[in-house]
Amino acid sequence: MRCPFCGFMETQVKDSRPIEEGVSIRRRRVCLNCQSRFTTTERIQLCELSVVKKEGRRELFSREKLARSIYTAVRKRPVSPEQLERVINALQHRLETMGESEITSQNIGEMVMEVLNNLDPIAYIRFASVYKEFKEAQDFQEFIGIHLDASLNKDTKKTMKEKQKYPTLFSPDDKMTPENKKKPNLMES
Ligand SMILES: [Zn+2]
Repeated sequence: MRCPFCGFMETQVKDSRPIEEGVSIRRRRVCLNCQSRFTTTERIQLCELSVVKKEGRRELFSREKLARSIYTAVRKRPVSPEQLERVINALQHRLETMGESEITSQNIGEMVMEVLNNLDPIAYIRFASVYKEFKEAQDFQEFIGIHLDASLNKDTKKTMKEKQKYPTLFSPDDKMTPENKKKPNLMES
């Protein structure tokens, strides 16, 4: 491992310990030339995963890119760095153990949305706005409409009660499903 400070090729490992429940190993190293200390992380890579982009281009899966898009979505939201690490690790693990050698960026996007949906609603909408390329305010409006509808339709005790109380509010006819989300807006119907 090349020293990041002086470029010397020989370092000595001072300490190794498993982190993230044994998924990776952190090593403290010291440069044998300039004595600088730095840390490396060794991580299992089960297979080289290619990501197929929308325009058909392929690139190697990058944990950094995945992490960056998630960090951007959760900026200033009440999500701890530990939670984020766990989520990103889980996503990476899921991607690497799928047994596939390639995956579409769209599939990854869906997985991230699923995770963010459970983590933080604002981060979820932010990520969706980038991933689904929202162009105008109406796109947000529609998406939030669908999102709220989906969460209302979760058959929790609370919504069951709500359903009994306001049956018309939950009538399936008014439901915004992915099929009719293209409807320009509610004013026209
Ligand atoms: Zn050095």
